[in-house]
Amino acid sequence: MMETIDRADFDALVAFHGCYCLDIALGYRVVKALSREMGDELCNPKHVVAYAGAPTCAIDALQQLAGCTLGKRNLYYTNSGKSSFVLQNTVSGKAARAYCHYWDDFDHEALRRQRQEANDPVTGTLEKKQALRDALTLGVNTILSLPEDELFKLSWVDMPLPPKFSKYRSAACALCGEYAKHDLLLEQSGKKICAECAAGLNA
Ligand SMILES: [Zn+2]
Ligand SMILES: [Zn+2]
Repeated sequence: MMETIDRADFDALVAFHGCYCLDIALGYRVVKALSREMGDELCNPKHVVAYAGAPTCAIDALQQLAGCTLGKRNLYYTNSGKSSFVLQNTVSGKAARAYCHYWDDFDHEALRRQRQEANDPVTGTLEKKQALRDALTLGVNTILSLPEDELFKLSWVDMPLPPKFSKYRSAACALCGEYAKHDLLLEQSGKKICAECAAGLNA
């Protein structure tokens, strides 16, 4: 399906994200599509959670456009390492998923090299910087204008509801004395210690 892109809307997202990159453009398209598919299921923001397969730039689209944020604890990483995104209604269970096949054979390396050369104090001539900007603009405009099915595949998925949050109870670490969420303290030789002490960071 071809969408008309609201450029001001996209620019606001780029400003929030703080970088002009291809992934935020794809994130924009994904979240717009998932939101459209979910429709009324998103009416109550308290009943919406988002899942992302990997911590990438695109996640800021979920945070800014879908209102699912780390702070509100309605954004989860699934750690599949995939460019996949889900919006789920936690009451009905209805969940829409997008998998971005656009990256499958995308040459990330070429853009990375171009960025490196352009930003290098020695090789980074004005021409190279301009060429990088042009490549980014072309890449972003391509992603903003391609039909959705050339970017990602949408589907409805059955998945469990997110776990309820346990009551936040804190307890002191036996070594450093600082308080941490009780169930995250680790047992070591009969003592409950925090993850930082366990990793030797407070030594
Ligand atoms: Zn970015
Ligand atoms: Zn400690």
